[in-house]
Amino acid sequence: MQFIDLKAQYARIESEVRARIDAVLSHGQYIMGPEVGELEERLATFVGVRHCVGLSSGTDALLAAMMALEIGRGDEVITTPFTFIATGEMIALLGARPVFVDIDPVTYNLDPSKLEAAITGRTRAIMPVSLYGQCADMDAINAVADAHRIAVIEDAAQSFGASDRGRRSCSLSKIGCTSFFPAKPLGAYGDAGACFTDDDDLAKALREIRNHGQDRRYHHPRLGLNGRLDTMQAAVLLAKLDIFPAEVEARARLGARYTELLNARGAVSTDIGGAAVLTPFVPADSVSVYAQYTLQVRDREGVAQKLHELGVPTAIHYPIPLNDQPVFHVGFPSTGTPVSADIATRVLSLPMHPYLTEEVQLQVVDAVATATGLASAG
Ligand SMILES: *Cc1c(COP(=O)(O)O)cnc(C)c1O
Repeated sequence: MQFIDLKAQYARIESEVRARIDAVLSHGQYIMGPEVGELEERLATFVGVRHCVGLSSGTDALLAAMMALEIGRGDEVITTPFTFIATGEMIALLGARPVFVDIDPVTYNLDPSKLEAAITGRTRAIMPVSLYGQCADMDAINAVADAHRIAVIEDAAQSFGASDRGRRSCSLSKIGCTSFFPAKPLGAYGDAGACFTDDDDLAKALREIRNHGQDRRYHHPRLGLNGRLDTMQAAVLLAKLDIFPAEVEARARLGARYTELLNARGAVSTDIGGAAVLTPFVPADSVSVYAQYTLQVRDREGVAQKLHELGVPTAIHYPIPLNDQPVFHVGFPSTGTPVSADIATRVLSLPMHPYLTEEVQLQVVDAVATATGLASAG
């Protein structure tokens, strides 16, 4: 059993991927070839925004977004500690200070009710993460940000394809940033990412930033990066985009099925309380792409070991909140984030990808029941 099965997907799209890659090999425009613009147009339409700017990774997308907003030394950016390192890392890399605000215990996303208290005269942006593939509460976050005239950047690295009340992730704030790392919901065959915005000026800035701050050949009005989306990766993504809507549907269906099966055996979805297993909670008007299908369990090490013995691979997203990472110990004091600290001790992710069969899912659920003491049959 695989945690993420990329080969099942490849078997389905092999001829399209090969044809797209062959086209690149034939025209030879490896940097900013025609596939990049074609992909950007299709992605912008898919998300429902005016502009998509391809970047070399999700990390560079976050960096470029903050550079476009001219965030730098002395500024503060509010974010969640319960995320992958890149989110806080890029803030600090620009010389700004990541201010970690705690998460909602049910959705694991930034808790909007805690934002107001963290805003200072130096706050330039709020950067929520749509963790595990479920949109953060962007309306509530935008409302706080608007009142203070600060920008919101959605770190949508895990939520590409997700939606909230019919609006797609990456269209829910000033700038949306995503990643096409192979294991993400829409994955390339290498590193890639993108920024999305409705703002023409920001889009222009992002296009310059990804190409060394260049506005025309060898003319550089600003600092930038070597942050372009690779043509080969754009070609791969174009082939994958054709089946992506079906994959988004499959992910949502499989995630809901995991929850149904586990809850039928005694797991619960809103508060672990006395239960052995907490399953994800997704509001009725929200579509998660389940970049991760993540449980909370007690005695995580024991459960993971038992699952390993039963042939079920697991992963921990994430074991250490960012404000407890050694790199942030000095110089980035944070206010208390007890919810993140607590939940980080219990999260455990199960195998999840759009080609998971019902049979394998049942096998996983049986193993989880055995490992955690849930009822052994539904
Ligand atoms: C994967 C990820 C990133 C970084 O994306 P890369 O393409 O790997 O650079 C940033 N933020 C979050 C929340 C992620 O999961």
